[in-house]
Amino acid sequence: MTAKNILNADLHCHSVVSDGTLTPEALAERAKTNGVELWALTDHDEIGGQHRAAAAARAQGLRYLTGTEISVTFANETVHIVGLGFDPDDTAMLNGLHTTRGGREQRAMEMSDGLAKVGIQGAYEGALKFVGNPELISRTHFARFLVETGVCKETSEVFRKYLTEGKPGYVPHRWASLRDAVNWITSAKGVAVIAHPGRYKFTANEEYALFTEFKSHGGQAVEVVTGSHTVQEYVKYAETAKEFGLAASRGSDFHSPDESHTDLGSLPFLPGGLIPVWELLEDRIQ
Ligand code: AMP
Ligand code: MN
Ligand code: MN
Ligand code: MN
Repeated sequence: MTAKNILNADLHCHSVVSDGTLTPEALAERAKTNGVELWALTDHDEIGGQHRAAAAARAQGLRYLTGTEISVTFANETVHIVGLGFDPDDTAMLNGLHTTRGGREQRAMEMSDGLAKVGIQGAYEGALKFVGNPELISRTHFARFLVETGVCKETSEVFRKYLTEGKPGYVPHRWASLRDAVNWITSAKGVAVIAHPGRYKFTANEEYALFTEFKSHGGQAVEVVTGSHTVQEYVKYAETAKEFGLAASRGSDFHSPDESHTDLGSLPFLPGGLIPVWELLEDRIQ
């Protein structure tokens, strides 16, 4: 019998429905080509692509779980909570995500004003050209505009120089609460997952509080193997998963063939001794 952690599951990526550059159909094809055995599309704050993704996966003979990645504000930081295996037609979840997306247009206009002050004109209109979903204008779309216009060579440079805290295009934003995000997912019969915990700038105490509160709200899993983690972080968060009794997830966080350094299906397997999140979701796999 194959060990249960040996599965090429990729449960985190983005399409044009949020800030990726490929359609759900192109992602399904790429996932299949790359040997993915279980896939989820997890667009930011949006589940409008779920029926397309599930149909595209079916057409490829690829097993599928519904997915999303919800922006949350916790301890003054933005934290991402992935949801997997929920009902994509759940009304409370659809409404909650709609509200979460609501502040993005205003924020984008303020980002554009901040960039104008350092001589970068027309960033709002420029970013809009890259947007696939008008409700989901994100920093990534601004980054693509600044690369297109030659202000920076690559998107990571744009984030470093313009779009992170203290930089001219950064606008603080209040996203959903941790409690609401976990409740939307679990009430829609899904599993909530802390996305890429290694990326947050938390102290050890704040990180402990995040995991403790997440668990108390009904969260059940954490990303251990992700494109955002180092090998050391795989080890660290495998231990954290065991300590908190959480299942483990795996996902590339793929956005674009031109930008992402981790392709769909290309990560190492989950370490042994963990409960893979797909074990909790067997009856939700399509
Ligand atoms: P937003 O939801 O508008 O704040 O945008 C967040 C998105 O920006 C993330 O989901 C990533 O896709 C992207 N992002 C954040 N930080 C970076 C970075 N340092 N380099 C490249 N992309 C980033
Ligand atoms: Mn993104
Ligand atoms: Mn994320
Ligand atoms: Mn992501």
